Amino acid sequence: MKNKEKFINYLDELFPDAICELQYHLDYELLIAVVLSAQCTDKRVNMVTKELFSKYTLKEISELDIKILENIIRPVGTYTRKAMYIKEIAKSLLMNYDGKVPNNREYLESLPGVGHKTCNVVLSNLFNVPAFAVDTHVSRVSKRLGLAKENDDVAKIEKKLMKQFPIEKWSKMHHQMVLFGRYHCKSIHPNCMDCSLREDCKYKKVK
Ligand code: SF4
Repeated sequence: MKNKEKFINYLDELFPDAICELQYHLDYELLIAVVLSAQCTDKRVNMVTKELFSKYTLKEISELDIKILENIIRPVGTYTRKAMYIKEIAKSLLMNYDGKVPNNREYLESLPGVGHKTCNVVLSNLFNVPAFAVDTHVSRVSKRLGLAKENDDVAKIEKKLMKQFPIEKWSKMHHQMVLFGRYHCKSIHPNCMDCSLREDCKYKKVK
């Protein structure tokens, strides 16, 4: 896609106030919610975390019977692994940072279940660290619009997006592209007929 400005303006028009759709009040709640969101919708994660965080504090989560935790988070999928991750994360935050999430990428990426993308989401939302997290929606939209190549992996896509868009746009564009992919340029049946990017879109041309 040659006209980057057009894409930025269109995202601003469609999603002027894009923010993270995961619901949280405390910093560790966001971290746990993002870990739970792997291969799961934000809507489902919000249902689960509403119950989890209203019943238990971080300390209680760290000490919670694993079976009780598994039962609560079961709807998000791969719940045995995620329950283990959450307990370990809770213990580690309490032991190393008094229960707070630090602005420390190296530490966060060392936590179980916390990869580069999770870290980008957490750091950009909690500390305004410029980051371009690439999830399934950002990846699909980037490829369709020719911002990345079909066989690029997420690391390559992230680098390409960071190169093509100004640093002050990264965090907001991440949220906007997630919403654009979730509600407009959907995986199946994208709204191409109503899309202002049709002329510039590689995917549409192929179709
Ligand atoms: S034209 Fe269709 S495939 Fe291309 S960006 Fe718009 S909605 Fe997505």
